[in-house]
Parts: sequence; structure tokens; C-alpha cells
Amino acid sequence: MSPPDALPRIHRHTLGELEITRIVELDEPFLAPHQMFAEATPEALAPHLEWLLPKALCPVTGKLILPIQTYVIRTPHHVALVDTCIGNHKSLAGFKRWANREDDTWLRRLAAAGISPEQVDYVFCTHLHLDHCGWHTRLENGRWVPTFPNARYLFAAEEFAYAESRARAGEDPVFAENVLPVMEAGRGVLVAQDFVLDDTLWLESTPGHTPGHVSVHLQSRQLHGVVTGDLIHSPLQCHHPEWNFRHDENPALASLTRRAFLERHADAATLILASHFPSPSIGRFVRKHQAFEYRYLEP
Ligand SMILES: [Zn+2]
Repeated sequence: MSPPDALPRIHRHTLGELEITRIVELDEPFLAPHQMFAEATPEALAPHLEWLLPKALCPVTGKLILPIQTYVIRTPHHVALVDTCIGNHKSLAGFKRWANREDDTWLRRLAAAGISPEQVDYVFCTHLHLDHCGWHTRLENGRWVPTFPNARYLFAAEEFAYAESRARAGEDPVFAENVLPVMEAGRGVLVAQDFVLDDTLWLESTPGHTPGHVSVHLQSRQLHGVVTGDLIHSPLQCHHPEWNFRHDENPALASLTRRAFLERHADAATLILASHFPSPSIGRFVRKHQAFEYRYLEP
């Protein structure tokens, strides 16, 4: 039986001729603010509590609420996914909380949004961390196989090389479980960090969280949006672009990239499809004092 909340976690928007659907895998308290951002002391958080509580900061656990989700982009020509969450049966050496999941809610939500795995044409990936490429593969008779048998999986070459080096160092099973089986099945393509698929979808290099991190741009009829990936994790970082997430691998570069991204897209009024901002996640950056704030598209 499906849990009763399985179907409502689908959220649709349009951008010109593009249809954007958020498919949420998990949406729950993640870590206490100071565990994510060293600077997030009670004093630093105090001015933000009014808007953080209760949707972005759980009043019970005191943890920041953070969705793990996929953006599905339907163009007139393609069905594309951006990131594929955690997935099932993954060993996730560094983060046991999400290891060995057996929960097909994400797949059922995708089906409820009218998308079968066979229909997916492209799988984009902002970076190769465990919560962004899990459903790239699934376990079938003890073997990892691509979940989307007809898709081209696009990997930024620099991110691919970095993930491969971590795997060689024995640091991370993500490459072996989520990436290598896609390459071995002939479905993976290595692309530049500024790859352009067509006039509706392209990549922008946004390094710092990982070396080959990319954001995914979409455009239709002069309307423009971008899936952030993990260059920014929380709307708190709009107010404090210098706050790095503790897993930003190059903190100095991560803050430079974040500040420049906020500047650029606040000016352009770009629709922001934030990967981990609390639901409903989609909104715009707006300038405020010397920094920014986040305005959600819907309440
Ligand atoms: Zn992430």
C-alpha cells in the first residue's frame, strides 16, 4: 500500500513552454543550523527565526528542514531529470542514515506525475554526491542497472574524474554504485561544464561545493530558470552568502561562486529552482541591504 502522503508531494510549474515538476523523495529535519553552518550561532539566527519557523526550522527538533528532490523538466522535445535523490539499497559509506533504503516512494511519485522510466531522455546531475545521483541506478537481480534505460546520463567530466578519484582512494561507494554501472551500460556521456543541450537546457559551471559542480539552466519564451544544485543549501545563505555548508569541499571557492550567483540572478530575476530549500523551494533572489533574501513563488 502507498502511504497516504505519497501523491501530494508533486508540485508543477510552467516556464514558457517548459513544465517543471518537483519530485520529492524526503522532506524532513536534517541537521541543527550550527551543524550545517559554523557561523549559525543562536545570536546569528535570532533575526531569522520569524521566517524560519516552522517550515524551514523544525520547532520540535531544532533542525533545519531540507528536501531531497528531483526537478523534472518537460520541454516540447524531451523529458529531462535534474538529480535523482538517494535511491534504494545504497551503501553510502559516509552517511549511514540513508543507507540501504527500501522505499520506492520517489519512483511512485514520478509515475504519478505521468513519467515512466522509459520516457526519460536525459538525466542531468549537478554533482556526484549521494543525495543527487542515487536513482541513477537500481538493483536488479543483484546487479546495478540504469533506472532510465533509454536516457542519456550527462556527467560533467571534471566531476566524473573527481568522483572516480575518490572511489580509487576507497573513500566513496557512490561512483561504483551510481555512476560506473551507467557507463558500463553505454548510457553515460561526459560533457563540459558549460555544455549546451539546446536552446532550452544548458549547464553553468558553479564549482566549490565539489570541483565539477554545475547548475542547470532552462529557458523558454525569454523566461529563464536555473536549478541550483548545492552551491547554496539554505535561504539563510541568501542573507549570509559567506556561510559555507560543512561539506563544501573548497570553502573559499564555494563562497565566491555563491555570492556571484546570487548577484547575477537577483539582477536578472531568474526563477530559482533551489535543490534543498524548504518546500515549495522555487522562488527568486531579491536584494536586501548588502545581501539578499528569498521570495517563494507560492506561499
Ligand atoms: Zn545535496
